[in-house]
Amino acid sequence: MKLATKFIHAGTEPDPSTGAIMTPIYQTSTYVQEAPGKNKGYEYARSQNPTRHALEEALAVIENGKHGLAFSSGVAATDAVLKLLVPGDEVVAGNDMYGGTYRLFTKIYEKAGIKFSFVDMTDTANISKAITPKTKLIWVETPTNPLLNVTDIAAVVAIGKAAKALVCVDNTFASPYLQNPLDLGADIVLHSATKYLGGHSDVIQGALVMNDDSLREQLYFIQKSCGAVPGPMDCFLVLRGIKTLHVRMQRHCENGIRIANFLRNHSKVGKVYWCGFEDHPGYAIASKQMRGFGGMMSFTLKDDSVATATKVLSSTKLFSLAESLGGVESLINHPASMTHASIPREERVKNGLSDSLIRLSVGIEDADDLIEDLRQAIEG
Ligand SMILES: *Cc1c(COP(=O)(O)O)cnc(C)c1O
Repeated sequence: MKLATKFIHAGTEPDPSTGAIMTPIYQTSTYVQEAPGKNKGYEYARSQNPTRHALEEALAVIENGKHGLAFSSGVAATDAVLKLLVPGDEVVAGNDMYGGTYRLFTKIYEKAGIKFSFVDMTDTANISKAITPKTKLIWVETPTNPLLNVTDIAAVVAIGKAAKALVCVDNTFASPYLQNPLDLGADIVLHSATKYLGGHSDVIQGALVMNDDSLREQLYFIQKSCGAVPGPMDCFLVLRGIKTLHVRMQRHCENGIRIANFLRNHSKVGKVYWCGFEDHPGYAIASKQMRGFGGMMSFTLKDDSVATATKVLSSTKLFSLAESLGGVESLINHPASMTHASIPREERVKNGLSDSLIRLSVGIEDADDLIEDLRQAIEG
């Protein structure tokens, strides 16, 4: 089945009780039982909810996986994966990643006895070097937030298999429209469904997709035991978002190309970070494992001062200054003080995330209007 058809029909069957074409929002905490233990498979909504199940089915379909699990946020989904580990286990992770993931790893899980090494994953040899007999998980984000670095997923999977370590790929930036890590052999795919899957900046949610039955059982056990489940209304919103993912992503990609090239050709712009440029170091791998390059990019100005960056960040009219990404509307963000403020400055700067970096989530408005907005903000 082609992507467009898949995204629209994924997980949604007309409601068997009424024929409603859209999955109903089962806003209930519990289910009546005929006799103790005699029920229709639904007992209590932390463990089972039909709206959530429809969404989980859809998540599996769009990532070409067998099982989907929905969580109350992207970090709750990350948290569930980390709970597979025990004290003494080690994780190899990228050195450029979403700030909240870094915070969860270093502030919560280091305390719980998990050891993390953060390496530059654009060269997978660095991963091999960091692997020890205690490594149980390799955490990959590609393209990375916010520097759009690219990691070769198939190469990481080979390293993970040899080391008997799970490979989890945070696929939030690419979305399942552009990249399917399970097809490349990854064990788990993670999404902040808050972003492209929801697509309308109106819901916080996370998702995991996997093929292995026993991994699904372990993660379902964590989901129901720890309780970070999304409510049915939020599941409905993400289900609805998924139906238009392909058309939104097409436009994000088209606008992304226009804006990346506008920025690159502007005399006041310094460096543009976008993996769709043919001279981007990750271009060959991105072209191999992605179907397009999306609407996420970052840039600096030639006048590389925080004051000038702040002026641009405050002067756009269509691009709203806000955290988050992946919605239909364009957003502009200052990673150093916003999305990535939880990474210590020294660590950040060492990995190339400067104080003056500006990140864009290019929406699906008319590209001419977006370019005009950036032009007036940059030219002042
Ligand atoms: C936003 C984000 C997360 C965290 O998701 P929430 O839904 O905000 O909890 C994880 N990874 C990436 C790449 C993100 O952009």
